[in-house]
Amino acid sequence: MFHINANYRKLPGSYLFAEVSRRVGEYQQQNPLADVIRLGIGDATQPIAPAVLEAMHKAVDEMGKLDTFRGYGPYEGYDFLLKAIQQGDYLCYGIDVGMDEIFASDGAKTDTSSIQELFAPDVKIAVTDPVYPVYVDSNALSGRLGEYDGQRWQNLVYLPCNAENGFVPELPKEKVDVIYLCLPNNPTGTTLTIEQLKPFVEYAKENGALIIFDAAYKAYIHSGAPKSIYQVPGAKEVAIECCSFSKTAGFTGVRCGYMVIPRELTGLDDLGNPQKLNALWRRRIATKYNGLNYIVQRGAEAVYSPEGRRQCHETVEYYMNNARLIREGLQKAGYECFGGVDAPYIWLKTPTDSWSFFTELLNTKQIVGTPGAGFGPSGEGYFRLTAFGTLENTKRAMERIAK
Ligand SMILES: *Cc1c(COP(=O)(O)O)cnc(C)c1O
Repeated sequence: MFHINANYRKLPGSYLFAEVSRRVGEYQQQNPLADVIRLGIGDATQPIAPAVLEAMHKAVDEMGKLDTFRGYGPYEGYDFLLKAIQQGDYLCYGIDVGMDEIFASDGAKTDTSSIQELFAPDVKIAVTDPVYPVYVDSNALSGRLGEYDGQRWQNLVYLPCNAENGFVPELPKEKVDVIYLCLPNNPTGTTLTIEQLKPFVEYAKENGALIIFDAAYKAYIHSGAPKSIYQVPGAKEVAIECCSFSKTAGFTGVRCGYMVIPRELTGLDDLGNPQKLNALWRRRIATKYNGLNYIVQRGAEAVYSPEGRRQCHETVEYYMNNARLIREGLQKAGYECFGGVDAPYIWLKTPTDSWSFFTELLNTKQIVGTPGAGFGPSGEGYFRLTAFGTLENTKRAMERIAK
């Protein structure tokens, strides 16, 4: 028989959220009357903004008429969307990004997992720890990380983020080629200032490394933290930025994101010749992708209209009010917790190990969260609650915590 990609065998068996679901299902079966509140979800729950819906309805109708029907669009997205992104996310903050540096896609999970296809098989990868699992697993599937020992990947460099270092990762002690940064961070809910990001940009310049910056939560920033890595001087020479409409505009089910690959970003091919990543990615999507659907692109464009902005902002504020309630509720109950100011995640320190805390919280308070250990070795001893629930459920959960 044919052989499969052996790297699939190396991946840890059960995906974190599947395991959480399984345990909650088991609990509910044994306690059918229990009123379980789920604060484990990393998914939008509030509906799509009216201005966005209206734009998508209009686009649907255009598809049904001979003179406005559209077939295949540009691989990188229509100009109207690229322009809206360029203006609304960059130029208006004084950040210089060209339309030809923006690639629209069906989401940041797709982009952050696919970008590694451009790297040589032996590049050294570093991630902050705990981490969004996509960066790690996608590189593991390409065979870059070696074997998994149940805790750690053999060839992966972990940059711990914990209460002790204030969730500010140290620079890699060894030479790495690619560093994934997610800020504001999922799962810790914390972020870095421009000053704290500068050393990473310097490191990348000095070591010929690339930074992949996941800014999926930038709409949640309430402190003065940077909304883009390109606010750090020189970052355009060393960083790709991935963004998403999922958490900004509730597009988790609609699907839209984009990636910025600056013109100047360069890597070396096997012959030692410099190659522009922007051109390589253009070549890659022409081969593997036929563009994002027109209706969604019109919806995404409308996120940047004055009404769209206002409506999406209201939803973000709704979630961030939940975040505040969770943070304050936990602190009152004596928990040490982090995040919840620039991100819809609250990361709390657990008195026991994180899976025991999961079980205890479910059994005694009927609240579901996510054990920190599922996000990497440095997540042990922590627990993630999310602000994506309804206001009512968030309040009820905090009342239970207070008792
Ligand atoms: C939710 C999330 C995304 C968004 O992914 P999409 O594919 O755009 O829905 C990206 N990165 C992180 C860290 C996330 O938590």
